[in-house]
This record gives sequence, C-alpha cells and structure tokens, in this order.
Amino acid sequence: MTERYLSSEVPALTSQCRNGSFHVNTDWYILEPVDADYQPVPAGATSHTVLVTNLANRVQPIIRYELGDRVTLATSPCRCGSPFPAVKIEGRSGDVLVFGAPGGGTVTVLPLALGTVIEETAGVRRFQAIRTGPAGLCLRLEVAPDADRAHVRTAVEERLGSFFAAQGTGAVAIEHADEPPQPDRSGKFRQVWSA
Ligand SMILES: [Zn+2]
Repeated sequence: MTERYLSSEVPALTSQCRNGSFHVNTDWYILEPVDADYQPVPAGATSHTVLVTNLANRVQPIIRYELGDRVTLATSPCRCGSPFPAVKIEGRSGDVLVFGAPGGGTVTVLPLALGTVIEETAGVRRFQAIRTGPAGLCLRLEVAPDADRAHVRTAVEERLGSFFAAQGTGAVAIEHADEPPQPDRSGKFRQVWSA
C-alpha cells in the first residue's frame, strides 16, 4: 500500500515507495526546506519549516506555502531507483502527539499522519482530533449528508486502530464528542492537537 504525506492544501505532495521512503512529487511540487529565517537548508540537514509551491493548478496556484513541518532531504538516491528525491518528515516543532507505548515508553505521532487517516475515511466531511492523554483521543466528526454517522464513526475507529498499531503505540481509547468541529477562540480551525 502506498501512503502519502498530505495536507488538505497539498494533496499527493509525496508518495511512499517500497523501501518506505517518502518521495517528493517534483513533477507537481517544489519543496523548499528552510531555516527560521527562510534561508535554504541543504540536503541532509533538518529544516525549521518547509515551503511548498505548486504552479500546476492555474486557478489556485500555491506559492511558497508554509507547511510548518521539519523535513530532511536525502543526500543520496533511494535504493528503489526513483528519480524523485526522498524526504524525511520530522513533524512540526513542538506540535507532535505523544502516546504511550506498550510496556512503558512513548511513541511520537505526526498530527498530519493521524489527520490523513481520519480525513481519508469515506463519509468524513470535517473533523477535529484532540489528544486527551497518553492513551486517549477525542474526535469531533462532521459526516457527509448521505453518510451514516454510526457507520462513519466505526470506520474511523477501525482505521485509527490500525494506524496506532502500525505506529507501535499502546491501545488508544477513542471517544466521540457530541459537538461538531469548531474554530478555537482565535477563530483558527485546527484539525489535530494535544489538549
Ligand atoms: Zn524510494
């Protein structure tokens, strides 16, 4: 199965190869790892943030859009032979989710990866996922008008269960909030965060 590193603004920014590397789809996107002063960061060094440009969509081009993730471009070609550069995604500074591991310890989960699992579930229109503790996640789901709410909830739970298992966390209890997704006090609509 091919997994993609996505956000709603930049679908299919990367695709994962059989070696597990994420390759930047440079046919469509320009990815610029930069430091805190927006100066370019060379391959092999971890960036402070990353800018994305996509000129293919002429109606709504994306120009140097800041994703906020720390990334590292590979210094050598991937063993899979792909001509597209491999990138390691380190997650957002101070914004990763920490869950408990079985038998102690912790596992770090990227908010974007977790969000993608929910977002790509059939029937999900909008969502918010709030980490409530090392073994707890609260979801606010808005389902499509023609979707069955209970069915979508179950599908999301199953997909998240597989996701957490693959990430190596302990069991994470998923709770569904009654309220719909909503902006925070500053009016910003966040999708995934830690309470
Ligand atoms: Zn590869």
